[in-house]
Amino acid sequence: MSIGSLIVPPRRSLTAALAALTVVAGCTCAARTRPDDTKHVMGTPPRVRDIRVRLTTDQPILQIRVAGPYRMLVAGRVVDSRPSSDFVAVQPQGDGLRIGEQILSAASVDIVPNRTGDLYWRTKSETGWGPTRRLPGNLRLTVDSGGLTAINVVDLETYLVGVVAAELYPDFHREAFRAGAVTARTYALVQMSERTNDDYDVSASESSQVYIGIPDGPGGRAAAAAVRDTRGVVCTWRSPRGERIFSTYYSACCGGVTQSAAYWGQALDIAPLVGGIRCDYCRIAPAQAYRWKPVRVSKAEIMARLIARDSQYRILGRLRSVVPIERTPGGRLQRLRLTGTSGKVKEIRAEDFRLAVGSRVLRSTNCRIEDAGDWLVFADGKGFGHGVGLCQWGMQGQALAGRRAGQILAFYYPDTHLTRAY
Ligand SMILES: [Zn+2]
Repeated sequence: MSIGSLIVPPRRSLTAALAALTVVAGCTCAARTRPDDTKHVMGTPPRVRDIRVRLTTDQPILQIRVAGPYRMLVAGRVVDSRPSSDFVAVQPQGDGLRIGEQILSAASVDIVPNRTGDLYWRTKSETGWGPTRRLPGNLRLTVDSGGLTAINVVDLETYLVGVVAAELYPDFHREAFRAGAVTARTYALVQMSERTNDDYDVSASESSQVYIGIPDGPGGRAAAAAVRDTRGVVCTWRSPRGERIFSTYYSACCGGVTQSAAYWGQALDIAPLVGGIRCDYCRIAPAQAYRWKPVRVSKAEIMARLIARDSQYRILGRLRSVVPIERTPGGRLQRLRLTGTSGKVKEIRAEDFRLAVGSRVLRSTNCRIEDAGDWLVFADGKGFGHGVGLCQWGMQGQALAGRRAGQILAFYYPDTHLTRAY
């Protein structure tokens, strides 16, 4: 049975929804002044524009390969189209770019394969060239004082396959994949409506949603099926201003109760993101996600990581103590006070502290902090990720218990339903 059977018909006709969207699309100035995620009128035009995915930025070098015919465009003009069977290096060259032996004075170039999927790329790390990724759509390469930026311009539904395959385990249940596809689509559409004046809509990392280009294997096939089964379906809620899509946040494992988006300090205090939802479905998650063992990190290491993220923490000197000063109603750390050997004190949001320490080291802010001299111990840890919105392991637990994608989404995002946007 298709997910379409779970869709609650929109209260307005699709034509009315699309007409409303047209108004919003021409009105980005008003939209951008309001710092919340509730302003998006439901729906998108039947022909959604391609999404711009920032793959990487500030790179000194990367490599690309186009397996078949293509065009290299500068400001819409073809500057090269010679196929290459090998990878070629892309590097900044003055104010322009060097691609293989070719030097371009332009700061931006588009690589447009005749056939989608012929494009490959990889970046260099300290240990050598990273994994080769195959990309659908086109590639935009730009250079500025920070280095190279690579942006994949790709059809939205194709992009979603590369997200869902990256975000979920290949053996997750089909209904979990479908719920994941709707969540990823809704999130992406919100970003696309927010970022019209920016160079990109989403990044390919955890800061938006992880994207790996064209996936292969069982996970890729499951993701492609889920995206196809839910094509155009989004999660909406009935806001005081009408039917809206919203930022469908999700994280790996809530650890037992979901978190309010409002604790990020943003104006996200809307019904679907209010949090506080008891979720014992994620008990099936691996131990290091659901209930993790104490984690010890030296204060020196923490200080180095804080400074790497923001140099203002230098004023603390060495780190003396980290004390919680506020917790959320759900029991997570919300604000911390950092005291340094300089006698200076700084406050930090617990989620920012977690990301500085390392999102895979300190798996969630649902823990206690113990002072052990030169070390801090994070104990009684629960959950993995920020815990706002949908819980991915809980989604899998519910799917295994026989719940459908629409039911899973309505559980984690209260007062919402599925709507076909296109
Ligand atoms: Zn959960």
